[in-house]
Amino acid sequence: MSDFQITVIGAGVVGLATAFGLSQHFNDILVIDKEQTFGTETSSRNSEVIHAGIYYPEDSLKAKLCVEGRKLLYDFCDRYNIPYKKTGKLIVASYNEKDHLIDLYKRGVINGAEGLELIEKEKIKELEPNVKGDFAIYSKETGILDTHSYMRKLYLLNKDKGVLFGFSKKVSKINKLKSGYLIEAEDGERIQTKYVVNSAGLYSDKLAEMVGIDIDKAGYRIRYCKGDYFYYSRPAIVSRLVYPLPHDNLKGLGVHITLDLAGRMKFGPSAYFVDAIDYSVDVSKRDYFFESALKLLEGVNKDFIHPDMAGIRPKLKGEGVRDFVINEESQKGFEGFVNLIGIESPGLTASLAIGQYVSDILRGLRN
Ligand SMILES: Cc1cc2nc3c(=O)[nH]c(=O)nc-3n(C[C@H](O)[C@H](O)[C@H](O)COP(=O)(O)OP(=O)(O)OC[C@H]3O[C@@H](n4cnc5c(N)ncnc54)[C@H](O)[C@@H]3O)c2cc1C
Repeated sequence: MSDFQITVIGAGVVGLATAFGLSQHFNDILVIDKEQTFGTETSSRNSEVIHAGIYYPEDSLKAKLCVEGRKLLYDFCDRYNIPYKKTGKLIVASYNEKDHLIDLYKRGVINGAEGLELIEKEKIKELEPNVKGDFAIYSKETGILDTHSYMRKLYLLNKDKGVLFGFSKKVSKINKLKSGYLIEAEDGERIQTKYVVNSAGLYSDKLAEMVGIDIDKAGYRIRYCKGDYFYYSRPAIVSRLVYPLPHDNLKGLGVHITLDLAGRMKFGPSAYFVDAIDYSVDVSKRDYFFESALKLLEGVNKDFIHPDMAGIRPKLKGEGVRDFVINEESQKGFEGFVNLIGIESPGLTASLAIGQYVSDILRGLRN
């Protein structure tokens, strides 16, 4: 490994989709990851939901790239036989929460989340007899996918296009050269590259700092926001995803009910800040998950709720709802260095659109 036109740091779903987007227009691309294979961190620890694009502030990258990414992702799944299911989803609310629900519905429509319908109790019961709620947003475009198959296909398509992969390469230094960058890995490997895409997920702020960016001044510092999941060991009692109204600041979408492609019902993820990365799930939280499930569903039995897994959101520090950071850093003196920071949900849904967006940025620089 020596000279590359572009080096993507991080082989999660966003790094893989970005390399895929770039490979349509560039040669000499390298993707490196500190782990032995692709997609072992946040990309394997999420709800695997293809979001419609309802929640995010108008004109945000989250809204735009979620809506674009959803369409690209369904097309990709059709084209390459990636298992998915357009389950649909209900966001339920009580009488008292009706105004909040209507605001959310309007935001979804403005964002371009197609297939939304406001429904009342009777229709909720018709669709999902076990779901509680007086009103709901019924989102028909929401679905679930097999994330691992999706990432594997991206990996193989990248390889077909000549993209090289370097695993077990933990980036420990990045130096700016007169033209381009010198990346050093912990094992002593040195890579010279014209452009860098920092897609290092939970560590992306550290990598931005490594090149010399003041991450506090730039607003790039990440906090870890953990989400636990519990699963239900009896057959699912819903056939669609069921969500409560989201937290005001979108810290999380509220403990919800998801399904996987095998039909297993899961509750989660919760949302709380932690100082260190630790994926253990504490069984003593069962009561909390049971109570959260009871708010949405009739007929849940606590005895069948068990700890499943956890994921950690790379949340940007700061007030309110922070948008994805996708920045080419010429203005900070780092030409050709693209930071992807705070790529939390809906990063999986948006991944292909993020890839195109980054590719457009670097094509703009090249021309
Ligand atoms: C609980 C939870 C639920 C979610 N649910 C959904 C959902 O339903 N739908 C949705 O659209 N999105 C969801 N998301 C968001 C989605 O999972 C993420 O946006 C997406 O997986 C981020 O991918 P990534 O490639 O940026 O990060 P990651 O998957 O974390 O990949 C980053 C990669 O960088 C590598 N790396 C880090 N540091 C270095 C280094 N120094 N040197 C080399 N490599 C390095 C890591 O090893 C890792 O492989 C959820 C997230 C969480 C936490």
